[in-house]
Amino acid sequence: MEDKNNGCGGCADAACEAEKRKNTEAMEKQKLSSRLSKIKRKIVVMSGKGGVGKSTVAVNLAVSLALKGKRVGLLDVDIHGPSIPTMLGIKGRQMTGSEDGINPVEVEGLKVMSIGLLASNDEEAIIWRGPVKGAVIKQFIQDVAWGDLDYLIVDAPPGTGDEPLSLCQIIGTLDGAVIVTTPQKVASVDVKKSITFCRRLNVPILGVVENMSGFVCPHCGQRTDIFPAGGGAQLAREMGVKFLGAIPLDAQVADSGDSGLAFIHHYAESSTAKAMAEVIKPILDL
Ligand code: ADP
Repeated sequence: MEDKNNGCGGCADAACEAEKRKNTEAMEKQKLSSRLSKIKRKIVVMSGKGGVGKSTVAVNLAVSLALKGKRVGLLDVDIHGPSIPTMLGIKGRQMTGSEDGINPVEVEGLKVMSIGLLASNDEEAIIWRGPVKGAVIKQFIQDVAWGDLDYLIVDAPPGTGDEPLSLCQIIGTLDGAVIVTTPQKVASVDVKKSITFCRRLNVPILGVVENMSGFVCPHCGQRTDIFPAGGGAQLAREMGVKFLGAIPLDAQVADSGDSGLAFIHHYAESSTAKAMAEVIKPILDL
């Protein structure tokens, strides 16, 4: 006799197929909500522009939380340019599975998942349309054995396209967005769009970070504002959101990112790490 709950296996009847699909969807929905229910806070790090230091902020925020003893997951949904594996020195790490799902890679006290951990070849371009990217992001949450987390920090790709939209729809309620910009006008114009995006999707904005804000010469200590300073604070004022603070341009931040060392941990005594810690402080208290 047909088993209406689990499908009948070989039946080609359209109604039976629809029933099976419905059951699968219900099971997936249940799996997703069970994963999400074990994560206390979900925070997305966004920017309207690429290259402004979004991943750098995401990594250092996640590591700061872990150093404070929090259970932290870091999810990189930058499908076309995943830099988290490089920044944490886990490129090429073998993924493993368990009964509970795909095991995230553990490093610096974090559980990390990124498309960059699954791609076999760095030069391979990922050419996917929106719905495929949405399905992958859903799998990254639903099928990864995140376990109980105090925070899930999500590094979104630049802009307000498919990935951030899918992420908001899949997660449902995000606890906040950190918006990263650089001081120049060209960045702040695009970053304003990220703020508007969050408002439309009811994502609370935790604040704006101005990264690459002034350069302090490591030899003479003199500060040079390579880009006119203050763009982030001005943007925050204009858009009515909190300004979290500024992080200077520092060669050691770039070096640590390239060598897979979390800056805030390995250069904790530097003035830039202290500036970073000030920026991150309000988020730690969330
Ligand atoms: P995004 O995620 O916005 O594309 P990344 O975080 O990948 O930006 O940063 C782009 C590059 O700039 C990386 O090489 C990173 O190490 C470097 N970088 C980020 N912030 C700083 C900083 N404050 N000082 C120096 N280099 C930085």
